[in-house]
Amino acid sequence: MHIPPQLTELKTRLHEIYDLEMAAALLNWDQTTYMPPGGAAARGRQLATLGRITHEKRTDPQIGRLLDALRPYEESLPPDSADAALIRVARRDYERATRIPAAFTAELYQHIAASYDVWSRARPANDVAAVLPYLERTLDLSRRFAEFFPGYDHIADPLIDMADYGMRAATIKQVFAELRQGLLPLVEQVTAQPPVDDSCLRQFFPEAQQMAFGIEVITALGYDFTRGRQDKTLHPFMTKLSLNDVRITTRFDEYDLGSALFSTIHEAGHAMYEQGIALEFEGTPLASGTSAGMHESQSRLWENVVGRSLPFWEHFYPRLQATFPDQLGRVSLETFYRAINKVQRSLIRTEADEVTYNLHVILRFDLELALLEGTLAVRDLPEAWHERYRSDLGVTPPDDRDGVLQDVHWYSGLIGGAFQGYTLGNIMSAQLFEAALRDHPDIPQQIGRGEFGTLREWMREHVYRYGRALDADDILRRATGRSLDVQPYLTYLWRKYSEIYGIAYTPFHQVVA
Ligand code: ZN
Repeated sequence: MHIPPQLTELKTRLHEIYDLEMAAALLNWDQTTYMPPGGAAARGRQLATLGRITHEKRTDPQIGRLLDALRPYEESLPPDSADAALIRVARRDYERATRIPAAFTAELYQHIAASYDVWSRARPANDVAAVLPYLERTLDLSRRFAEFFPGYDHIADPLIDMADYGMRAATIKQVFAELRQGLLPLVEQVTAQPPVDDSCLRQFFPEAQQMAFGIEVITALGYDFTRGRQDKTLHPFMTKLSLNDVRITTRFDEYDLGSALFSTIHEAGHAMYEQGIALEFEGTPLASGTSAGMHESQSRLWENVVGRSLPFWEHFYPRLQATFPDQLGRVSLETFYRAINKVQRSLIRTEADEVTYNLHVILRFDLELALLEGTLAVRDLPEAWHERYRSDLGVTPPDDRDGVLQDVHWYSGLIGGAFQGYTLGNIMSAQLFEAALRDHPDIPQQIGRGEFGTLREWMREHVYRYGRALDADDILRRATGRSLDVQPYLTYLWRKYSEIYGIAYTPFHQVVA
């Protein structure tokens, strides 16, 4: 078919934007890994300059003209073709970028810089009063942001859309309510059992051996070190500099074996998604994971569904024992497996186990909606937070440091859309894994032999390779036969934890009924 010159020009322009984004990503990566403290001021300026130039290029009216001119061509293409997807996603990005006035963006960045700064001092000082006026303004900015996208059903929808395109507050509310209803009795029953002894994880584990073992694990999972690398940082993350250079970072706690290990697998899961995107998308906006939730589905799949499973450790535990003979030589596989799956009521989201984690997320999501709807005032937020921790997790935060000041999200970005992706990801991870098992029932046996290729290839085929060419819902429907469904995840959690804790396995639908 004849390729219109407008498409060639559009691709050239999108490629430039991509290159600028990747250059900024490299500056960011360096900032959090190797940059000496003295570099901070100049680095901030360099990133601001790059950000400004990128924004100009993203909102250049010529892109709008090219997209208009390409409509007839787009309509002549099969919707599944790469060019159709590229034009569709480029239009979405362009409309998004141009709806938000530059003055608003400048105001927002300035506010967020101030808000983050105040929060970073208020949190250690447990000074919630200091952040409340900033949160008021953040809420106001978040509402104004939503108003740039009129026609929404719920005021949170435009904010959710930025992270999880196509998801709606109403849908998520319903799914989360079902999940919460299934989880509360599980938490109730599990925490009524004697607590699991996880002291075997809290011995001294030298960093060098931890690192070597982590590298062995993620290499076996399929993280490609010829197209990536691992470095140390304060807050682990994954960053992509191109589809052939997808890096991860980690941090070590020599007195907590699980910390670096599971965070390494988590980030490798994110990275394997990006490494699995079709290389033909390189340099285009399609060369990226499709949503926050879908991305998290892959980090959680490898970290939890695979990495905290019994077959996984049947393979890896003897190797871990050989790495740490003094610490683990006399610790049984069963003791270790129970330790890495310990469930407890706790205050901190990022340290929570698989079972309680989602309760932390759901309450934050609900609070975001209440703030945006205006049914909860910012001044009442700290107490509302405490109240939900009491009712959902059965714990009372002793202060606001581990309460509403706990997460950086509301102090470094907008209110709305910040948290749902974590739990959407957990739900999707089980839904996708269930579908992979339908195609290949022997995946658990393969995992027990240290073979991960079948599962990884299934994910590459059904999820990774599409990049942003398919939205999360399309991926789920094609790969699993249905839209987001909480049932496989609840079944997974109930099965696994009723076995570990020796409680009766009540199929969750009976619990929910
Ligand atoms: Zn993640």
